[in-house]
Amino acid sequence: MKKAKINTLTKIILLIAAILSLVAIVLLVTDLGRRTIGVNESKSTVAVSAGDTLSKILTDQGMTVSDVDIIAKTLKSGAGVTSLRADSDKLTFIRPRDDAPIQKIVLVPGPWKQIELTCDDAGIWKCETVEIERDTRAVFRTGEIRDGDSFYVAGGRAGIPAGILADVYDLLAFEMDFERDIRAGQEFSVLYEENYADGEKVDNGRVIAVSFDALRGNVKMYRFRKSDGTVGYYDQDGNGAIKSLKRTPINNARVSSSFNLRRKHPVLGYTRAHKGIDFRAGTGTPIPSAGAGRVVKRATDRGYGNYIRIRHNGSYETLYAHMSRFAKGVGVGTTVKQGQIVGYVGSTGLSTGPHLHYEIIKDGKHVNPMTVKLPAIGNLSAADKVRFNKFRNTIDDIVHDLSDHPNWFVQM
Ligand SMILES: [Zn+2]
Repeated sequence: MKKAKINTLTKIILLIAAILSLVAIVLLVTDLGRRTIGVNESKSTVAVSAGDTLSKILTDQGMTVSDVDIIAKTLKSGAGVTSLRADSDKLTFIRPRDDAPIQKIVLVPGPWKQIELTCDDAGIWKCETVEIERDTRAVFRTGEIRDGDSFYVAGGRAGIPAGILADVYDLLAFEMDFERDIRAGQEFSVLYEENYADGEKVDNGRVIAVSFDALRGNVKMYRFRKSDGTVGYYDQDGNGAIKSLKRTPINNARVSSSFNLRRKHPVLGYTRAHKGIDFRAGTGTPIPSAGAGRVVKRATDRGYGNYIRIRHNGSYETLYAHMSRFAKGVGVGTTVKQGQIVGYVGSTGLSTGPHLHYEIIKDGKHVNPMTVKLPAIGNLSAADKVRFNKFRNTIDDIVHDLSDHPNWFVQM
């Protein structure tokens, strides 16, 4: 009997405590809500279009000339913004009430940051750049080459965005010849990033992992950050996947003539070694350097036409011939990066039509760009290799999970 009474009392006390805390929570939430959102706050957004200036937009919002001047100065000193860009910038004006003066201006100059101008109680404007929180998700797409497909066609059908596909092509081109290594039935997959803000997709990020069933076996590449902070792509054994030279400097160009030491020359008509590869491409197509190096020759020759020869680190040189013109500022002695434009496709010299004639010379001897084993850059230290192996296993697990559930994603 006594026991039961105490129990009832305890229950009542607990109930009162619960009610009180609920009231407290409700009060707290409402108060927070008032502070951050404001009850009658008014917001209006203006998209900047051609001909708009900051002062025009601000004046339209009812700001005085001196206010406009202060805002312009604050934007310049606080965020380095001196002008607005039409068709991309947006300005949002926030007032505490409809009829109150503007208290806050938000400028969104790109997807991942916004510039906030705030007016304090004393009427002083302050400028702050806020990074927008990026929610990065790994998504997985898989595809198959069908009869007559190019990799781009098959990749597009697999739902891989064009930008990601171009990055994948660039990576795989170190290992594969997209002209001759493509067969119906080959499968490929890509794990890549999609960036979201506030639950909305904003853009695609980077390629995390790639797999391609090439003729000589499965090719895999993983994006991995070394302990020194540098990022690169590595094969499943941790060997650098980025090579110091590219087999095909121009993406997606058709090979019109391959490396052949006993070829009948199309112009001269007699058998003459073809010590390079011809890529068919339109006149004016930019020609990127196959690797980092220094220009050792820029000349015009009866056979090669306008050509450039680049010496790369180590024992490699590359040569680019029949150019319509050289790139500005590229001459003998110029240091070039991998991918830097050195000239433009043409048909100068002994040539039957616009194409790039590309040679790789190793230790003074011409080698077949499609088959030569190219030196890797950025190989891993022993310690990094241990870290890489763990990372690769994690990625392989993610790929395994996502291949069973194609609509899932993994938060990165
Ligand atoms: Zn050629």
